Amino acid sequence: MCVGPLKKICHWGPLSALATIKIITLMTIHCSRQWWPPQDSVPAAVNFLLFFTLSGLTLFHFISAIFEGPGYLPLKWTPEKATDIQFLQYCIVCQGYKAPRSHHCRKCNRCVMKMDHHCPWINTCVGHYNHGHFAAFLASAVGGCCVSSFILISWIASVLSLKPLPFPPPAVFTLILVVFTIGLSIGVVLAVGMLLYFQLSAIIRNQTEIEDWIMEKSRYRRDETDAKFIYPYSKGWRFNISQVLTWDCTPVGDGITWPVIDGCDQYTLTKEQLAQKLDKRKRARKYRIIKPISGSKFPIGHGCGVFCHPLYTDEPRIKLDVDDIVVVTRWKKYWLFGEKEQKEDENSKLKRIRGWFPRPCAIEII
Ligand SMILES: [Zn+2]
Ligand SMILES: [Zn+2]
Repeated sequence: MCVGPLKKICHWGPLSALATIKIITLMTIHCSRQWWPPQDSVPAAVNFLLFFTLSGLTLFHFISAIFEGPGYLPLKWTPEKATDIQFLQYCIVCQGYKAPRSHHCRKCNRCVMKMDHHCPWINTCVGHYNHGHFAAFLASAVGGCCVSSFILISWIASVLSLKPLPFPPPAVFTLILVVFTIGLSIGVVLAVGMLLYFQLSAIIRNQTEIEDWIMEKSRYRRDETDAKFIYPYSKGWRFNISQVLTWDCTPVGDGITWPVIDGCDQYTLTKEQLAQKLDKRKRARKYRIIKPISGSKFPIGHGCGVFCHPLYTDEPRIKLDVDDIVVVTRWKKYWLFGEKEQKEDENSKLKRIRGWFPRPCAIEII
């Protein structure tokens, strides 16, 4: 049983990440000491220390990103000036307004300050408070795995060279383990390297993954004759970096009010979000369900098209019954995304039922 602080780590994401860090670290230290013993020369000691430092930093920033957390907006949050609520969206789960740059995370079940994305590897969101630690974690993991791949490949090369070895010949099991670790290490360099590239680009532009999406919709909403929507939070790359990548990875600001460029205000982006929401509502169409839907990710009995085209998204699939009415806002060839219409009486706080369902089970109501 995992209780207290350990609860955050007891999840497949952090556990597999920790196991990967441990395997790579132990194997690299083992091979490094045999192939280029740190006590032999200064370059060997530097090489060993470099790896040791990077491995330590990876673990430190990983744990910090988990325990620091992204920063949650207080429940029932409202802006200081009551008139400002007209510019903000309301979160029915947290029963408060969403501050600028905050978004509700379904997995964390809270509104997250400057939410970037929910990362299963740290089992929490990447947001305002842990953005720096997360980027530093990615950077040290990529750096550490570059050094580790170099050491492990050199070790294998000297074992396979058939020249006399300066260390006892390894067992077959060790050899297999080293080859496996090389694969793991190169995998980290490629996959985490790509993530690091996107994270650095987000920090340099001061624009999160979600805000990229909002900006894309803002372009889509306007045609060429309209004035372009100006993103309010990017005040130049130096300034943007200084907001997140500080020496102790503590971000600047409270996660609620943000520095904006001239001509914009605190609510420039939230007003655009509200306008996008209104647009979406105008485009919405009502559908009636004609066949029960189980809510499964791989539904059967709705035809080959649905079965052969599962959705690659972690957004929910919903369970629906015949004659349910759904307000659909997104369309795919075999799937529809919408919100089930529910009868509201004054006292009940109904949970919104929103998600994807197979398209052949519904007909549009004109
Ligand atoms: Zn919320
Ligand atoms: Zn989350």
